[in-house]
Amino acid sequence: MHEFGIAESLLNTALETAARAEASKIEQVNLRIGLLAGVVEEALTFAFEALSEDTPAQGARLVIEPIPVTCYCETCAAFFEPPRGSYRCPTCQAPSRSVKSGRELQLISIEVS
Ligand SMILES: [Zn+2]
Repeated sequence: MHEFGIAESLLNTALETAARAEASKIEQVNLRIGLLAGVVEEALTFAFEALSEDTPAQGARLVIEPIPVTCYCETCAAFFEPPRGSYRCPTCQAPSRSVKSGRELQLISIEVS
């Protein structure tokens, strides 16, 4: 379950940021996760809750904004959002070999008190 590794690095980053801001408690962690990143939201939340116990991040909410998958079609010179499970351009039906977004995992901000 790679969510534990992800949660651990998120937690470390959040704790470092909170320490630098001299905050005693992390209320919320805002993330963006690409739909292709292969992260199960429930598993990530569970892992984060387990790891953050007895840290300033205990009880913090994880707010996850999904990043849609975007592909580029060279034939049409256009970006498109492929339907689930397919990478074909909806205009010319050519399969795209170029995924531009959807694999990201970004910690956007944390809210502290
Ligand atoms: Zn096309």
